[in-house]
Amino acid sequence: MMASNSGILAHYGALMDLPEYSRPVTLLEGDTPLIPVPRLAEELGGGFELFVKFEGLNPTGSFKDRGMTAAISEAAGRGVKAVICASTGNTAASAAAYAARAGMRAVVIIPAGKVAAGKLAGAVAYGAEVIQIEGSFDDALGLVVEISQRQPIALVNSLNPYRLEGQKTAAFEICDTLGGAPDWLCLPVGNAGNITAYWMGFRQYHALKGSGLPQILGVQAAGSAPLVLGHPVEHPETVATAIRIGKPARGEQALQAAEESNGRIIAVTDDEILAMQHQLAANGVWVEPASAAGLAGLAHELCEGRIDVRGRRVAAVCTGHGMKDPDVVIRGWGKPPVLPADRDALEEAILGGRA
Ligand SMILES: *Cc1c(COP(=O)(O)O)cnc(C)c1O
Repeated sequence: MMASNSGILAHYGALMDLPEYSRPVTLLEGDTPLIPVPRLAEELGGGFELFVKFEGLNPTGSFKDRGMTAAISEAAGRGVKAVICASTGNTAASAAAYAARAGMRAVVIIPAGKVAAGKLAGAVAYGAEVIQIEGSFDDALGLVVEISQRQPIALVNSLNPYRLEGQKTAAFEICDTLGGAPDWLCLPVGNAGNITAYWMGFRQYHALKGSGLPQILGVQAAGSAPLVLGHPVEHPETVATAIRIGKPARGEQALQAAEESNGRIIAVTDDEILAMQHQLAANGVWVEPASAAGLAGLAHELCEGRIDVRGRRVAAVCTGHGMKDPDVVIRGWGKPPVLPADRDALEEAILGGRA
């Protein structure tokens, strides 16, 4: 590992298939921690090693920055002046930040009322032109694909192949930290770019360094589980807005990654997702709801006895930071009480029944 983070292009650029003409645009993304969570492993039954790849610690708070540094670098190199994306929120914030860095326009199309506050604020803060549509993410994606084909504006959704070239570096980092691939990798699945990128990354590293291959557990939300149901979902619903997607653009590749890795794609309920978000926070790692889905899926499979991880190493990808979606916490876990500025009242509240 390098002494300090230099961004994924500097660190892994030689392993990324980017055109010669690319012009590096970086915010020093990547090099995120792989946090051991032994107590959480105990809570899930114990007997295995568990690590959280905390992608919420990227510059804009999600893994999208890995793909965006690659996609925007390619676009900058070919003189692109404007980029466009559809987004459930994190792609918007990331595209906005990297476009700002490159001095480009960013236009982001989001489903009205369905984007978490921290993501919308990010996109606005970085200066993106944000447009909400009366439709779903899937509608938005269809529209931006059409517009990017008709107009001189580059698409930076994960249909853009350079996004995957960047995102696969997270698999390299996990192998470099552990000295090889974990036995299982669990992660949330929305539009399915990330699971596709991880599988690309693990296969590439295995071919290069014999680092081994994980079994992949991809996890969708029960109300937005097209890959589990085997057909698109017209009106996807879930509290995990980042994976509220009914027609995953890379669905076929996701199913292939699960099959080739001898893993699977499953669905968990919103209650399971929120419970795992809580449990992770109680272990010191606060993630947004979608980011807890991978571990919720692991807990589900362990509980049902469908997976045996005894003596194994498991890595879970936590895709985005909890600060992205403050409302879900305030709504579900309660607002702090307001008391008079008075010592007796505070002592009563603090010690109350415990004295
Ligand atoms: C984008 C995103 C996902 C889903 O990733 P896909 O590549 O669309 O499957 C999951 N969690 C978070 C926080 C995201 O931003």
